[in-house]
Amino acid sequence: MRFSTFLLKYGEIGIKGKNRYLFEDALVRQVKRALSKVDGEFKVYKSQARIYVDCEGEYDYEDTVEHLKRVFGLVGICPVVRLKDEGFEELKKDVVSYMDEIYPEKKLTFKVETRRAKKSYPKNSMEISRDLGEAVLYAFPDIRVDVHHPDVMLNVEVRTDGIYVYSQVIPGAGGMPVGTNGKAMLLLSGGIDSPVAGYMIAKRGVELEAVYFHAPPYTSERAKQKVVDLAEIVSRYAGPIKLHVVNFTDIQLYIYDQCPHDELTIIMRRYMMRIAEHFSGKSKCLGLITGESIGQVASQTMQSLAATNDVCQMPVYRPLIGFDKRDIVETAEKIGTFETSIQPYEDCCTIFVAKHPVTKPDVEVIRRSEERLCERIEELFEAAVTTEEIIKIG
Ligand code: ATP
Ligand code: MG
Repeated sequence: MRFSTFLLKYGEIGIKGKNRYLFEDALVRQVKRALSKVDGEFKVYKSQARIYVDCEGEYDYEDTVEHLKRVFGLVGICPVVRLKDEGFEELKKDVVSYMDEIYPEKKLTFKVETRRAKKSYPKNSMEISRDLGEAVLYAFPDIRVDVHHPDVMLNVEVRTDGIYVYSQVIPGAGGMPVGTNGKAMLLLSGGIDSPVAGYMIAKRGVELEAVYFHAPPYTSERAKQKVVDLAEIVSRYAGPIKLHVVNFTDIQLYIYDQCPHDELTIIMRRYMMRIAEHFSGKSKCLGLITGESIGQVASQTMQSLAATNDVCQMPVYRPLIGFDKRDIVETAEKIGTFETSIQPYEDCCTIFVAKHPVTKPDVEVIRRSEERLCERIEELFEAAVTTEEIIKIG
């Protein structure tokens, strides 16, 4: 039996009135985007507070489901068999073969639920449910009816263009469709954390841009490629990402020359935030995103986070702030970034790192150390932001 349509379910809480159609339109756009990467021809449309995907001609079922599972905002994906209306006797036969094929085991309880949009159909929805239920019971002695908690809810929709039958609900990604909640700038390194952080914020409907700081020749082309690969994986969920690649070498070397070495990481991170904010302003981003989590490393103690945050005018979103590494790894594995993240390529942060970095930096002290950069930092900042390379991902 061939699934020729998908019925897409979405959560409806908090999306009333005008927000509802914005939500639905964004969802339709995201579904179309996801399916543009799949071989086949798909028609995506809204109808009666539902979203449908009609698959025209040949298509790859597994790949289609895989791509739909990555669309934020969908809570369920129902593969639908679309039948021609060739009379009720034919419908009974088709529904019986549907059950036979989809549930080969047969030891289950079920209930038929009918929606009748085509009012001219000769039976009403109660009658359709009852008579189809009877046909299934008659065909399979092991199957029972349970109207309260059925294992299988067999849905039948009688529409003008045919009869839609479905019972399976494949869990969707949840969240909100990307594009319904503005845009933010992800500080994307080659590590495990930041891709997960980007994924989590995108899941709330936020479009992503990203910035990566590299330090050639101290960091390699391969390290940069790893970040591009990670951005590509995140974009499978989040949609297209504009990646800013910033050459951070001269700023790092200058900080290294001028400032106490135990403060290097903090000062470097403050410059990363400043540069990320610079791009954010230009791209109308509403905040920054990092993969920081309290206490994970010296630069992520409460004092270090405060010292880093000190330079930011924009909100900084740190969705992993209360996560253990173990939980972050679990998500990284689930979304498919983990294997790429653990490839052993150097990050610019690790190259200039001190043996004993401060773990409780004092903001005032850090600000004073930064004054030592006054001579050249503006010029280096300007050079870094004007020589950025932009890579369009997804
Ligand atoms: P990650 O696994 O995300 O690299 P981490 O545990 O290695 O995180 P840090 O290196 O202290 O932690 O970085 C903290 C955050 O700063 C990262 O999650 C990321 O958002 C940002 N960041 C660090 N290095 C870079 C970089 N080279 N380019 C862009 N952002 C970076
Ligand atoms: Mg890192």
